[in-house]
Amino acid sequence: MVESIPSCRSCGECCLGRVLIAKRELPLPPILEAQRAGSFVLPVNGRCAALVGTLGSQVACVVYERRPIKCGMFEVGGDLCLKYRKVQGRRRLLAQLVKR
Ligand code: SF4
Ligand code: SF4
Repeated sequence: MVESIPSCRSCGECCLGRVLIAKRELPLPPILEAQRAGSFVLPVNGRCAALVGTLGSQVACVVYERRPIKCGMFEVGGDLCLKYRKVQGRRRLLAQLVKR
């Protein structure tokens, strides 16, 4: 089945987990710097501290103009994007099934 082009404004799947950053990006915006451990920005409750909103409904990055290079590598509808959406979707489904 071919997936239609998703919307980042409601998705946010690639903003879950830790974010790899490069030395040349330092210093990061304060909200990310506060969560930085070496070369990674660690998640808060499983998601990037800069992500606001509700996954699957409406989300936004509060540091979009200064987001890490890695974040810009996710081309909407590209291979990386679709793989993330598939994997995260399965994880969420499993978590829902376990809760029942
Ligand atoms: S790039 Fe893809 S995975 Fe990331 S928020 Fe946009 S639609 Fe979701
Ligand atoms: S910095 Fe922005 S784009 Fe990058 S993971 Fe965090 S919320 Fe997503």
